[in-house]
Amino acid sequence: MNILVADDDSVSRRLMQGILQRIGYDVVLAADGVSACRELTRNNGPRLALIDWIMPEMDGLAVCREVRRHREESYVYIALLTARQDNADVVAGLESGADDYLTKPCNPAELKARLLTGRRILRYEDKLVDAREKMRHRATHDALTGLWNRGSVLSHLTDALETAARADYPVSVLLCDIDHFKEINDLYGHLAGDSVLEEVAARLQHSVRKSDRIGRYGGEEFLIVLEGCTAEDLRPCAEQVRAAVGATRIQTGNRALDVSISIGAASFPSWSPSRSPEQLLRLADQALYDAKAGGRNRVCVWDSALPFAGQTSIVDSLN
Ligand code: GH3
Ligand code: MG
Ligand code: MG
Repeated sequence: MNILVADDDSVSRRLMQGILQRIGYDVVLAADGVSACRELTRNNGPRLALIDWIMPEMDGLAVCREVRRHREESYVYIALLTARQDNADVVAGLESGADDYLTKPCNPAELKARLLTGRRILRYEDKLVDAREKMRHRATHDALTGLWNRGSVLSHLTDALETAARADYPVSVLLCDIDHFKEINDLYGHLAGDSVLEEVAARLQHSVRKSDRIGRYGGEEFLIVLEGCTAEDLRPCAEQVRAAVGATRIQTGNRALDVSISIGAASFPSWSPSRSPEQLLRLADQALYDAKAGGRNRVCVWDSALPFAGQTSIVDSLN
């Protein structure tokens, strides 16, 4: 494990380096507070530190304060090293953000034990961060497909529309629905249905850019948010998605199934006066309805040039 030793005195620095190397640490040396701070606040910097209190320019207390101010994630365990032993000094050291306080000269056995305490705390922190990240993932993703869940993709759409209005670019959505999915469940069972959902999700993900966000919108419905995608680009993009899902049969158990999707697509141009997510979804839903009514396995694009009531006349593309 990496440990940073900051001391302006080169003899003390080397001495400490020797002790720490003997007990198995990889030592990073800093000759002043400024370079100690730089090391400790960079990404993947050491997470254990022994900092001398008295150093020119930036002393140990200032290093502690800077590290605490800059690095909220990935906690750094800091022990201050000093010859000062007054209660007031200990208090000042701890108040600056140090976790421990060691008086010079250090006893190697005590140093080793105290560093183990530090490592235990770091391990707990890692476990907590890990648990939090897992919970965050669970709260924002769909358990079956691994895609964003409905709440996340909708909140992404809201944000995307707000940003796009300020930055003046269009936002489009694709509402994708698996055709006759109920039949798959009814004929081959729910587990086969689940594996079709997983495979469709994977194919959707591979058919768009990494920056496009895909969410599971409902049971067998998926919502794709395409930022910057114009009305002209929308149909080819949607066609590509539809074709990717139906390109080859989907294998479930010892069966290969023909699966297709219908897509309702809608776009808000950058100049659109009111652009609520609900409105855009309503348009995409209407287009999806038309795609289903038109025979499925097709894309329907809501055309802003036509009145809403006349949308069923939109030209659809068949494969
Ligand atoms: P259409 O072509 O009109 O879209 O018909 P459909 O059969 O796909 O649509 P419908 O809405 O009638 O059926 C959707 C089915 O999806 C019903 C529901 O039981 C199933 N479903 C929803 N969520 C899941 C799931 O997580 N796993 C499985 N296996 N089935 C699901
Ligand atoms: Mg369906
Ligand atoms: Mg449906």
